[in-house]
Amino acid sequence: MLKFVREEVESFMQGLVKRNPGEDEFHQAVREVTESLMPFILQHPRYKQAQLLERLTEPDRIIIFRVTWEDDEGNFRANRAWRVQFNNSIGPYKGGLRFHPSVTQSVLKFLGFEQIFKNSLTGLPMGGAKGGSNFNPKGKSEHEVMRFCHSMMIELHRHIGENTDIPAGDIGVGGREISYLFGQYKRLSNTFVGTLTGKGLSFGGSLVRTEATGYGCVYFCENMLNRLDDSIKGKSVCISGSGNVAIYAAEMAGKLGGKVLTLSDSGGVIHDPDGIDEEKLAYVKELKEKQRGRISEYAEKYRKATFHADRRPWHIPCDVALPCATQNEIDQQDAETLLKNGCIAVAEGANMPSTLEAMKAFREANILFGPAKAANAGGVAVSGLEQSQNSLRLQWTHEEVNTKLKSIMKEIHEKCVHYGTKGDHVDYVDGANLAGFVKIAESMLAYGAV
Ligand code: GLU
Repeated sequence: MLKFVREEVESFMQGLVKRNPGEDEFHQAVREVTESLMPFILQHPRYKQAQLLERLTEPDRIIIFRVTWEDDEGNFRANRAWRVQFNNSIGPYKGGLRFHPSVTQSVLKFLGFEQIFKNSLTGLPMGGAKGGSNFNPKGKSEHEVMRFCHSMMIELHRHIGENTDIPAGDIGVGGREISYLFGQYKRLSNTFVGTLTGKGLSFGGSLVRTEATGYGCVYFCENMLNRLDDSIKGKSVCISGSGNVAIYAAEMAGKLGGKVLTLSDSGGVIHDPDGIDEEKLAYVKELKEKQRGRISEYAEKYRKATFHADRRPWHIPCDVALPCATQNEIDQQDAETLLKNGCIAVAEGANMPSTLEAMKAFREANILFGPAKAANAGGVAVSGLEQSQNSLRLQWTHEEVNTKLKSIMKEIHEKCVHYGTKGDHVDYVDGANLAGFVKIAESMLAYGAV
């Protein structure tokens, strides 16, 4: 990076850190984007003059509220919840809700900020938002989860709407939670409209929404490989996580001829040298979705597999790595290990799974690196398609939605190539950040000082 550009980045970041003290995850997400955008902004004085970066990094509003609920023993419990409505320049606010004890305002601001660019990349009219709570669903009964969701919606319903803000799922918020949230929203608002996505199929949900993030991540990876006349066929694939994203990434990687070696959860990683095929995946779905069990049980059932407690998959040699668990799950050392073991492609199914140092290592090594904003946009893209179906009062077939998802991922890949090509190499990080930015920037400029 040129010295002048670097100085501009550092002075911008200094101000941002001062205005948002202690929000490490948010600083990290903004720094990555700023490094990509600064040369472009300096070349286009009208962007700088309109203070676009300063405005884009300041959320439109953040709603913070207490959620009081009653546990099964009759104790009153209180959690904190947020909705970060970051930017609605190109459409109503859109983004998931996360329930996890690690949720803080910083985490939700990083997620909401990334969502602006991701949603823009899909080509659909969706602004960026994120929300959630530090509520921990682990170990809670069905009834406790229901009471929490119902109580949360009593406040949240005032701030959302089909044309205002459309929440969905994320870590800790799946079909069950969306159903409780939607039921309460429907009752409080006395409307039946698509204000949440990820709904059940009998009440307005879309086919392929559950699979969309994982499938989309693999489609994106396949697009990157195809550009180099290669494909996932015959490749060994390491996947982290065992939630929706990981399971359906594994399913699609297998369908395209890859061999999936690993899955993980907060307890550790399982390594199956024979590959995790469709039948074994069906077992994992049942284990994780229905029984809410631990991934270690896989190694008890399939004896050739080994379980490595408290470890992530990145020490296991693979051609392709798909981090599908959570933020900062690949650090510099993990990245170096992956590279040393011959990894040629990384596509991020989770949000910001690579630290800045890990990202730098991948980019310097010139391997294929599909950043989250591009590679995991399939989930929110199908959420956008769910909204379209709700407005049309129609339900599209599995094939129709899957075909649309595939073509959206292909278009995202093309946008990254268009904006990220440097010589014969594509920098997908710069490509995704720039392509996402341009559409938002044009809208913000057109609106004037709002
Ligand atoms: N939480 C998902 C994401 O990170 C999906 C958001 C949505 O469907 O609105 O993109």
